[in-house]
Amino acid sequence: MSGLCAAHELAKQDVACIVVEARGRAGGRIAVEHLEVSGSPPFSAAVDMGPSWFWPGQSHLAQLIEQLNLGSGVYPQHSQGLSVIEYANGAIEKAPGVASMAGSNRLDGGMQRLIDTLLEQMGDTCELRLNSQLMSIAQNSQGVVSTLQRNGQQQTIESTCVIVAMPPRVVSHGVSFEPALTEQERVGLESIPTWMAAHAKCVVIYEQPFWRLQNLSGDAFSQLGPLVEIHDASPRAAEQYALFGFVGIEPLQRAGSLDAIKHAAIEQLVRLFGEAAAQPVAIHLKDWSLDPHTCTSLDIASAGGHVQRVSLPVSHQSSGVVWAGSETASVGGHANGYLEGAVESGVRAAHQVMAQLI
Ligand SMILES: Cc1cc2nc3c(=O)[nH]c(=O)nc-3n(C[C@H](O)[C@H](O)[C@H](O)COP(=O)(O)OP(=O)(O)OC[C@H]3O[C@@H](n4cnc5c(N)ncnc54)[C@H](O)[C@@H]3O)c2cc1C
Repeated sequence: MSGLCAAHELAKQDVACIVVEARGRAGGRIAVEHLEVSGSPPFSAAVDMGPSWFWPGQSHLAQLIEQLNLGSGVYPQHSQGLSVIEYANGAIEKAPGVASMAGSNRLDGGMQRLIDTLLEQMGDTCELRLNSQLMSIAQNSQGVVSTLQRNGQQQTIESTCVIVAMPPRVVSHGVSFEPALTEQERVGLESIPTWMAAHAKCVVIYEQPFWRLQNLSGDAFSQLGPLVEIHDASPRAAEQYALFGFVGIEPLQRAGSLDAIKHAAIEQLVRLFGEAAAQPVAIHLKDWSLDPHTCTSLDIASAGGHVQRVSLPVSHQSSGVVWAGSETASVGGHANGYLEGAVESGVRAAHQVMAQLI
């Protein structure tokens, strides 16, 4: 998101760029999964396995949504009805007023819509190079030489500037610099946790919104798990209904048990929302801790969270290396770590590049 926002901003000024992406798709932590649903007729359900929400007051994201003409697709997170609380002793309570995501917004088509529209609008000014893993950044008198690994082949790109829009820990673990980063700079990068990197999200699709029909919002909080925080994930156009939950089992403990967790999640949804929950039409679990382009061993080892201070390498900045990515955005409020921060830092990085090109 951050890299594409930077490219989109550069494209508006006719500044050519190449977006280098390690995965075979664009979007990073914004990730849509297409699930085949056996209904009559069968259909393909698109579910967002990364971010779902944004909030009033996130001005950079609001501005982008407006620029991309997606404003009519904004709708509020469903939160009407009672929430369900499951205590450690198995007791279940239904309570009003604890829907923690009430007031947040979602986007028709999911967050992938932002990525698809950014790509559409960028046109030919920027090239998207998928399956291309950045390995190193070296500086010379002309600018910056980036070395990539693409389909087993090494490629180099010479450019005036490079915007590094990757999670700082992923940079520290996978990209070498010439001249090398100082120890202090490397430690600084590693001190910035990647927001939500070690989480796992489970989405369950149903034919009917049976929770809504019982005056339940779909929000649930559980001390038993495996899902600890559950919300309604249904799209606005109700061709399918869904609940999703964050898995409350530590990454190392859930390794190799994803099918068992899915099974236990359905049993839990039956406890919380009734027998109808036993008949999902599709279920998908995405464990981000298994994804090396997002999550490092440091994110698996520690609880994560947001930083109080962003400590980025300075030694390369005067000569063409510009930092972006949500984890480099303003701290405090709903920016650093969030989609808002990805947009804020991407746009800021593009302006830094344009200032260097003058
Ligand atoms: C489960 C989950 C739920 C979330 N929920 C929310 C939410 O509801 N609201 C919200 O605001 N935020 C949420 N977030 C956070 C949000 O997803 C991020 O803030 C945002 O997507 C970050 O965008 P980014 O472009 O900065 O980073 P990323 O999306 O991480 O992009 C970095 C890119 O760099 C690529 N890359 C990595 N290594 C290399 C390499 N060596 N070479 C080339 N490319 C490389 C990656 O593939 C990726 O595309 C959530 C995140 C997760 C995982």
